[in-house]
Amino acid sequence: MKAVVYNGPRDVTVTDVDDARIERPSDAIVRITTTNICGSDLHMYEGRTDFEPGRTFGHENLGRVVEVGEDVERLQVGDWVCLPFNIACGKCVNCNRGLTNYCIEAQPMENMAGAAYGFADMGPYQRCWSRRR
Ligand SMILES: [Zn+2]
Ligand SMILES: [Zn+2]
Repeated sequence: MKAVVYNGPRDVTVTDVDDARIERPSDAIVRITTTNICGSDLHMYEGRTDFEPGRTFGHENLGRVVEVGEDVERLQVGDWVCLPFNIACGKCVNCNRGLTNYCIEAQPMENMAGAAYGFADMGPYQRCWSRRR
């Protein structure tokens, strides 16, 4: 698959990367049909964060579900989905309060809440990866 890979400040390329795959039972794979650049990508693009070279941008997407893990309850193959950049488990105390942007399960850094795709300090997630949990 193709992905926009960050090489360093003001240097990105469209590159072939490994296809996404189901890594956890709660993962879903979405074939992206529409995407765009977000203003928040500019923080990384311009080198104002500690975003690591080799990671991929992209967190504003629309697409169709092509595969789901065995624990996925609300999606099925063929569903159209609009993907926010936030990643949330849907089951932790914050998610149950509706504060999914402060999910404490998806963020791997201690004493941090909230996770996102393709964003500095919001976990290792990339659109070409599936969720870790
Ligand atoms: Zn955005
Ligand atoms: Zn959560």
